[in-house]
Amino acid sequence: MSIAREAIVEKLKKICGDEAVVTDLEVLQEATYDRFRKYEGYNKVFVNPLPAAVVYVKNKEEVSEILRFANANDINIVPRTGHSATEGGLEPIRENSVVVDGSKMNKILDIDTYNMQVTCECGVVLEDLEDAVRAHGCTTGHSPQSKPIAQMGGLVATRSIGQFSTMYGGIEDMLAGVEAVFPDGTICDIKAVPRRSAGPDIRHVIMGNEGTLCFITKVTVKLFPYYPEYQHCMGFTLDKMEDGLRIMREVMTTGYRPSVARLYDAEDGKEHFSHFAPGKCVILFVTEGPELVSQANADGIRKIMEKHRECTEVDPKLIETWFANLNWDAARIEEERKEVLQTHNVCCTTEISAPWSAVEGIYNVVKERVINEIPDITVFGAHASHCYPNGINLYFVYWYNVVDCAPEEEINKYHRPIKKIICEETIKAGGSMCHHHGVGKHRTAWIDQEHGSALYMVKRLKAAFDPNGIMNAGSILPYKG
Ligand SMILES: Cc1cc2nc3c(=O)[nH]c(=O)nc-3n(C[C@H](O)[C@H](O)[C@H](O)COP(=O)(O)OP(=O)(O)OC[C@H]3O[C@@H](n4cnc5c(N)ncnc54)[C@H](O)[C@@H]3O)c2cc1C
Repeated sequence: MSIAREAIVEKLKKICGDEAVVTDLEVLQEATYDRFRKYEGYNKVFVNPLPAAVVYVKNKEEVSEILRFANANDINIVPRTGHSATEGGLEPIRENSVVVDGSKMNKILDIDTYNMQVTCECGVVLEDLEDAVRAHGCTTGHSPQSKPIAQMGGLVATRSIGQFSTMYGGIEDMLAGVEAVFPDGTICDIKAVPRRSAGPDIRHVIMGNEGTLCFITKVTVKLFPYYPEYQHCMGFTLDKMEDGLRIMREVMTTGYRPSVARLYDAEDGKEHFSHFAPGKCVILFVTEGPELVSQANADGIRKIMEKHRECTEVDPKLIETWFANLNWDAARIEEERKEVLQTHNVCCTTEISAPWSAVEGIYNVVKERVINEIPDITVFGAHASHCYPNGINLYFVYWYNVVDCAPEEEINKYHRPIKKIICEETIKAGGSMCHHHGVGKHRTAWIDQEHGSALYMVKRLKAAFDPNGIMNAGSILPYKG
């Protein structure tokens, strides 16, 4: 460390003002973990080094000055917005890191309904943005379950995806323009245009960087007309996950475009549908868009489903009610905290993607291995919630009782070994170990296998944009000290 903690705090105060720089113990402790270590966090056990400060930036110039200072003095920067990360992306693993928090940069700058795009600062909560554009009859089409908490900077930085992805795509299909600050202080504003072929698509250097290359300050995403009145919803029960996966493939490869296409296995379904589908798998679809488009998709999907005698249709109201309550806000996280502390029963997840030909095998082998190899599992299930013409995602959901182990041992006894099985089996079968939560700090062990020969490019990007390694050490690529 070339500079003392106190000197870091003093300089940050000079750049951003005293009130923007927080060093309270509780704030620093909360900044040492994200939902990967939620059991530790809920138990108020903090194993990562305390950052020197959390600094609430107000504009790109402040970000630029902080990064230049950090770059010159070997200070690790952890960018943060909504604090809903799940893979350790927010863990400051080096001593005296600075958490640069963009949540006060929360202005919606331009709702442009003529060109159908909206521009905002990085700290705008997605739900606030969506509410604002809905007042103009539009939607961003983006609806991750963390919509009430996650903010636009983090959503771009993690390559997030929402529940209506089968129609609107992931953030990569929505992002029109983006501004970011690099470690040497350079501010790059990538203009929002419908499309261009002026060299490589540099938006993709910024998207998914997980705070390891730059700090995102401004985002422009596309808008779509919002027609809730034309939504169709349908749900079906069936016995076998394998049948469900084949039906999802049939719908997608026939060319239909539902906005939502989800399939739950019976175990995961228990948490959601036991009141009307106990012991069953559940398939559900939502179609939307202009009246004729939504109707045509609904009719086509229904025609496919009618052929499948193994499926039984359920009252769509049951699906609609369930779907309306799927998102997580701060109150729900607080409820979870209380429950976990009381029961020591923890729920964690890992999401992957795979080609159609591999997904069934991955599902079966992962399930068998986790149930046989990991102790104290109370639920192990999966659902698919994002579908593509060439494959699908799987979202493994696992609950375990934390038995005979201190809070800080929980991730090594349960969470990491489960993740290891999922990542290894997925990569072996030709899938991707991360569908939408990012690599964070807890999937870096498999980053070389994930990328294979293309890891060259990932490493070169890091070396080019962050040559001194000050951006979020240990995320995406392992920290070598
Ligand atoms: C209950 C729950 C449900 C979820 N559901 C979904 C879902 O449906 N779909 C989905 O994709 N994800 C989901 N997530 C994961 C999470 O919400 C997303 O990864 C989200 O994009 C993170 O946004 P955030 O603003 O909270 O970012 P943070 O948690 O603050 O940060 C996430 C990562 O991005 C980096 N980062 C943050 N801001 C910036 C910035 N301005 N510039 C550069 N890097 C930055 C951080 O360093 C970190 O590595 C869920 C999480 C929870 C807790």
